[in-house]
Parts: sequence; C-alpha cells; structure tokens
Amino acid sequence: MITTVSTHHFVKQLTRGILTLSLLAAASSLSWATEEVSPEALTPDADRIKAHLHFLADDLLEGRETGSRGHEIASLYIATELAKYGLTPAGTDAQAQGMSAYMQRVEFRHATLVQESPKMAIIGPEGSQTLDYPKQFIMGPDLISTESNVEAKLIFVGYGITAPLLEHDDYAGLDVDGKIVVALSGKPQHFPSEEGAHFASGSQKQRYAAQNGAVGMITIVTPQSEKVRPYQNSLNYLHTPAMRWLKENGEPANVQKSLIGSAYLPMDSAELLFEGAQRSLDDIYTELESDGSPAGFDLPYTVALSRESEHKTITSPNVAAILEGSDPELKNEYVVYSAHSDHIGFAKTVKKDKINNGAMDNASGTSVMLETARLFSQMDTKPKRSILFVAVTGEEKGLLGADYYARNPTVPKGSMVANVNLDMPILTYEFADVIAFGANHSDMQASVDDAAQKVGIELSPDPWPEQALFTRSDHYSFVKQGVPAVFLVPGLKASDPDVDGSEVFGHFISTHYHKPSDDLNQDFNWQAATKFTAVNVQIGLTLANQAERTRWNEGDFFGDTFAPE
Ligand SMILES: [Zn+2]
Repeated sequence: MITTVSTHHFVKQLTRGILTLSLLAAASSLSWATEEVSPEALTPDADRIKAHLHFLADDLLEGRETGSRGHEIASLYIATELAKYGLTPAGTDAQAQGMSAYMQRVEFRHATLVQESPKMAIIGPEGSQTLDYPKQFIMGPDLISTESNVEAKLIFVGYGITAPLLEHDDYAGLDVDGKIVVALSGKPQHFPSEEGAHFASGSQKQRYAAQNGAVGMITIVTPQSEKVRPYQNSLNYLHTPAMRWLKENGEPANVQKSLIGSAYLPMDSAELLFEGAQRSLDDIYTELESDGSPAGFDLPYTVALSRESEHKTITSPNVAAILEGSDPELKNEYVVYSAHSDHIGFAKTVKKDKINNGAMDNASGTSVMLETARLFSQMDTKPKRSILFVAVTGEEKGLLGADYYARNPTVPKGSMVANVNLDMPILTYEFADVIAFGANHSDMQASVDDAAQKVGIELSPDPWPEQALFTRSDHYSFVKQGVPAVFLVPGLKASDPDVDGSEVFGHFISTHYHKPSDDLNQDFNWQAATKFTAVNVQIGLTLANQAERTRWNEGDFFGDTFAPE
C-alpha cells in the first residue's frame, strides 16, 4: 500500500476507530464449502501460503525493488507457481518460451533530481529574491527533460480543482494561459473523502493546470495540510526518484508535458508570493478554516524555476495467467485478481538490517493470490467466467504496473468485469471480520456480502473513511479504466477476545510499515492467512458465476467518471 499521510496521523485515526468500533469477538464457524464447489477446493493450505511468503520475503530477494534482480526472481517464482497449477500464460507474448510467456515486461523512465540544481527566484517590481533549496522550496525530478527552465507570471487558482460533478471549478473565469499556477494543497473539506482524494491528487491537479494552458505549478502548504503532512517530513524524500511507464513512442505516460516547472512551498515562503497582492495569504488561510474555496486572482510576481534531472530506463515485469472459465460465452469475461509483487528494496539506514523484506507488504497478498490460483485450478467445475491473475510491479512507485496492465491488458479491453485486489493483509491475528473497500460503489456489495456469508465472516464498514483507502492501491488503476473493484483487508475484530485488532494494525503501521522489520520475524497467524484466502476465493467465485456481470451503481461518482455509458 502506498501512503500519503504521516504514520502519526494514521495511528491517531486508528485510535479513534477503537472507540467507535465494537470489538465483540464473533464466534468463527467456518464452513467454506458451497453447493457449487467441493469442500477441498475451498480449503486453503496454510503450509503453501507460508512457503510462498517465506520465499518472497527472503533476504535473498533484497526487498524486491522494481527493476531489481530480487524482483525479477520473485516474478519468476510467481510465474513458475502459476505454471504448476496449469494456468494459461497471459503475458505479452503467449508464444514465448517457458516462464517468459507469463511476463508482461514494462519499460519505465526513472528520473532523479540533481540535488545541487534546483533554483527558484521570485521577480517583482522591487527586484529578484532567490529562495533556498530545500528549506524554502522543494521540487521533484523532471520526467520529460533532463534540463528544465521556465519563467512566467503567477496566478493563484485556489485548490486548482475542476470537479463538475461536485459543482466546483477553481479555474472558472481565470486566464492562466502561459502562467505558473499557485494552488493550495488538498481539497475543500466538504468534498466526500474518496471523490476528494481523486480530485486532490497531484496528477489530477496537474491535468487541470495543463488543460488551462499553465506552464508550471507551485503547490503551497496550508495549515490543514501541515498538520497531516508536515513540510519538514517532505525533506526525507528529496532523493526519491520519480518513475512512469513508457508509451510505445518512448514518452512517459501520465505526465503533463506543458508543465515545465513545479515546486512545493512551506507556508512562510508561500507568503512571499502574496505580498502586495489583492489578498494576503493569511486572509486566504482564514477563509479555509470555515471550509471556504478562495477564488483565484493574478499575483504581482514572475517566478523563475529551473532544475536538472538524470534519466535512465529500466524494465520490470507484470506476471499474468488465466484460468479458463467453463461457460462457452461467459469465459470471454474475466474476473481479475491483482497483487503487487514489488516492494521498496534497500533501506537507507545505518542499522545492520538494510533489507526491506516487505513480508506483509506485499509478500502476504501475493502468497494469498498464489494459493487462490491453486484453489481455482483444483475445482472440478471451473467457474463460468475466466479468472485472470496479475502480479503487478511498480506499486510502490505509484501504482505503475497495475496502471500499465489496466491500460494495456493482455485480454481484450472491456472483458475485465471486476477486480479483486490483495495488498498488505495483516496476517498476525485471527480476525473475525473483513473490510471491503470499494464494494459500496457497485453491485459488488451484494456479491461480497454473499461471499462473506458463505465463509462465515462479518463485513464491517470502512473504519477510516477519511483515509480514502479505495484510491490508494492497485485496484484503483482498474477503477480508472472503468472496472469495478474491491480491496479486502482483515477487519479490526479479533476471534480471540484478548487481541485488539485495531492495536495490531496500528502497531504494524507505526513500527514495521516500509521498514526492514516488515520481515519474517513477525508473528504470522497461518489460520488468518487461510481464512483471508478463503473469503477472497469465494468473492471471485461469486463474481465469476453470477448471471450478470458486475455493474457500477446508478449515479456512482467513480462509475460516471471512468465508465460513462
Ligand atoms: Zn507499500
């Protein structure tokens, strides 16, 4: 899972969740068999899940960084397992020899910022003022050019969001052509959380700026965003490379070419841009306190931005395989399971253990997907629709492998009817419920309810709606291509009354998440692993066998936005 919030904030939210959630342990009566399928076919094997997880999280794989040898070995292992179950290769070239037939190799541009290079100057009637990097501003690497310079007039554009479905347009009546836009971080508070996360994302804001003719974008911290994500924390990521997959023409995808400059400013340097303007930044910040959406206006300055970036090309595979459905018509539709196989590689730490094993993130989800694939392959009667399994790369770099697959699928576009994503299930306690992010946006809710009931497990509502987790893992890449998706995590209720699921989850996030200690020394509960597999298998089976393909709810924002009729 990728996170855009500080751990501290997340744990605080979790603690709040404890107060509102009843922690009554549900009696677990697990009868995983259904009328359609023999009991063995739905009985996950703990030893197999454990073996996968121990392989994928081994030190030898060095944290499975996208493009690394360790991740290549992980991918080869995944392909080999899928081949063992007799699944059909669904890589780019299904005629390729051996395991290559399961691979969809993706090319990426990898860009790093030359740390000595970033420059920002504010030019006004009284002269020019140079800001200090990284104290007064930061910027990321440029994915298009290795050297970029831009100098243009500034215009304030509020949050910089155009959201017709929410009747909000910060660009209405503004002439931003050829200018650098200055946008507030975040979104209006009254925006619903999941929709808001979509509009507040950097990539969406850049799109709106580019569509309006801007040549650069400066994002400024607000008192609200500073609380959630302090500017000081951003300094930990100065060396973080940016990556995008490359289109056939060699250009990086999802980049606004016309935005030449970009910068991120803390509050005190942002104030400099508003000195002598028609409104002060303080005044604007005050308006935000009552959820105002300040209107834009021209600022009395020109800004010059420049930077140097280093580029390289790397390749990394998605792994894909198909279990063919049993219905002559419906087998042309696919229920897609996804799990990211990559993690974050070596840690920049002085400690002895430098390997981010990513046992929970996401060796656990990948292992559950492999066992899911095996169980489907064992069924006497195969599901009506086909099942597609995709282990995606580049999740930790911004959901890149899933985005590539969803946009360049190795099955016909439009044939993927639903996505079930597996990412970072915390498998250290026997949970009594699950949370199904995204199910409420489509008729998948009924299918998931049905599946949970068959496995004898409770479904709990999203305990962290403000986190918008629906937009934060690979399933969202499928959603953006119009495919309804669901993403399950073990719930916060534990079968053992002495275990507090909330605390276990909070402890993982604060102590092990994206750290070398997310390794095999954690206290895995293999019963939880089998239960989690069972419910995910049942969901896929329900989706694959139901008469009608899954549909977005009438009037659903994500359906209307990404799958307009
Ligand atoms: Zn992660």
